[in-house]
Amino acid sequence: MKAAVVQKPQSEIVIEDRPVPQPKSGEVLIAVHACGVCHSDLNVLLGLFPFARYPMVPGHEVAGVVEKVGPGVTWPKVGDRVGMTWLFSSCGHCKMCVQGDEVLCPFMEVTGVTKDGGYQEYMVAPAAYVAPIPDGLDFAEAGPLMCAGLTTFNGLRNAGFRVGQKVAVIGLGGLGHLGVLYARAMGARVAVISNTPDKEAEARDLGAEHFINTQSQKAGDALKEWDGGADIILATAPSTEAATDAFPGLASDGTLVLLGIGAGDIKASPMDLVGGRRHLMGSPSGSRKDIRATLDFSAHNQVLPHITKFPLQDASKALELMHTGMLRDRAVLVLR
Ligand SMILES: [Zn+2]
Ligand SMILES: [Zn+2]
Repeated sequence: MKAAVVQKPQSEIVIEDRPVPQPKSGEVLIAVHACGVCHSDLNVLLGLFPFARYPMVPGHEVAGVVEKVGPGVTWPKVGDRVGMTWLFSSCGHCKMCVQGDEVLCPFMEVTGVTKDGGYQEYMVAPAAYVAPIPDGLDFAEAGPLMCAGLTTFNGLRNAGFRVGQKVAVIGLGGLGHLGVLYARAMGARVAVISNTPDKEAEARDLGAEHFINTQSQKAGDALKEWDGGADIILATAPSTEAATDAFPGLASDGTLVLLGIGAGDIKASPMDLVGGRRHLMGSPSGSRKDIRATLDFSAHNQVLPHITKFPLQDASKALELMHTGMLRDRAVLVLR
């Protein structure tokens, strides 16, 4: 089979011929149909994750079909449509695992970072950690829901979103466009904050009522003028400056939830935090209960990612286009 491999940090992706891996006890073999391309894949390539292992097959937005099951596996069955997220496995017995928050497990393994992921024709996964893909979602659309969808959907839930609130989404990339769609589908009023003025039309097409161009306006000031500020700011761009600039635009009791890891620190004034009882939090991906909720909500409300398809051989090109901001949509590798 073909696999796209990162041999070592700060190297290129190389397409290799590898034997098809075999599922051991408790594992399944997934025939990968599609795998979304995430900024975190770029971090594997650039060597920015100290916990990454090499050589590594990136990819944690996996959608495919169970090809084979290992000994002792009773679910899923051969032929089932399944996906894999960032969470490859967890210890199962720490405090976070037993309370169903296994994405916070200190012993978790990460798909495409510490265990080979979806940039290959077949991958092995622990049976207990695959997510069933609902009927009506095709593979290329299901892929990006495994990370970009899960992270934004779950970020809104973790920030305590309630129907009718105002949500400001920073950035309109792979995560941001899904953030707008989820917030709208959940009953929010939505603003988009972007440093790219020509994204306004797209933001409005997706359902945003307000567009803040940070080249001409300060995000915090502009948000305050939006009926008193945002109840939730969904920071999808990996920019700590953008989050810092937007934070003062939160309404009282509002929450800024950071979804991407960028360089630098976020600053918030104690007056804004204490005086307005505002909240600053982060939210990583999600656990198994969360991906099931994400997929179910997406299928029933037709919240689908905007995608551009690439063959596996063009994995490098897709990453490069994402890196340089040339891609408007989520890149998805389509393998079958
Ligand atoms: Zn990701
Ligand atoms: Zn654990």
